Amino acid sequence: MLIGAHVSPSGGLWRAIERGVERGCRAIQIFNQSPRAWRPNTYVEEDFARFREAMAASDIDAVMIHAVYLLNCASDDPVIVQKSRDALANALRLGDAIGAHCVVVHPGSAKTGDVDDAIARAGRVFASALSEAERCPLHLENTAGAGGTLGRSFEELAALIEAGGADARLGVCLDSCHLFASGYEIRTPDALTAVLDDGLAQVGPERLGSLHFNDSQTPLGSNRDRHANVGEGELGDDGCAVFLSEPRFQDLPCVLETRGVDHSGPDRKQIERAMALRERGLAARQRG
Ligand SMILES: [Zn+2]
Ligand SMILES: [Zn+2]
Repeated sequence: MLIGAHVSPSGGLWRAIERGVERGCRAIQIFNQSPRAWRPNTYVEEDFARFREAMAASDIDAVMIHAVYLLNCASDDPVIVQKSRDALANALRLGDAIGAHCVVVHPGSAKTGDVDDAIARAGRVFASALSEAERCPLHLENTAGAGGTLGRSFEELAALIEAGGADARLGVCLDSCHLFASGYEIRTPDALTAVLDDGLAQVGPERLGSLHFNDSQTPLGSNRDRHANVGEGELGDDGCAVFLSEPRFQDLPCVLETRGVDHSGPDRKQIERAMALRERGLAARQRG
């Protein structure tokens, strides 16, 4: 498992690698533009070259790009749909340029409208954005299930992939906090096994491509997206150890999006704690 953190690329794309190295990461995730603005960052070939060079010299083996939260690919407003599509295509092209593992996107929100219609609209946007990139996979992230957000269940993720034309580049990013908040009990090996047996059969096991690892401030089925620091939420150290040692996750990048102790994001201590809990979970599974 490539454990790492969401980090900032401010000051230059390559600075994200530097921040990952400082934290002892094996994987990093970045936003490709300001989370609060539609305007894309523009990069030149020199930025990509410097980024690839820094990455090659580091222990970081996977870079994930998170599309910003402004996007709503499922919107019924054509202006929002167009902006979302362009931003997603832009993120995917950046992914091609830097050899990213994937672009992660929250599938969108139906707001108060019909869910099936919203899934169909989102699927069309995914297919259209993918048609503008060559290689970079697009991972749909499961959500905590607040409001009309799409992707609260494996069933919805499967429907979204189907609506996107079942493109081979469409995959799934599973977030531990969101799974738990949307009602999946994942705190014991048996419980997590049951969730994945059923869920991966729905989306196709080969589509599971990346992970977000966050503890949850709010209880099972709360439908609220409140990340807690590793071991400090409802999953606790034991629940975290279970998720981090899941055999089907072992080859995947797994990035933390926690606030960290001083609220500046996942720091080295958070990463080290996650790595230690993975070892603890592996040892517990071996004892049976
Ligand atoms: Zn996440
Ligand atoms: Zn979240």
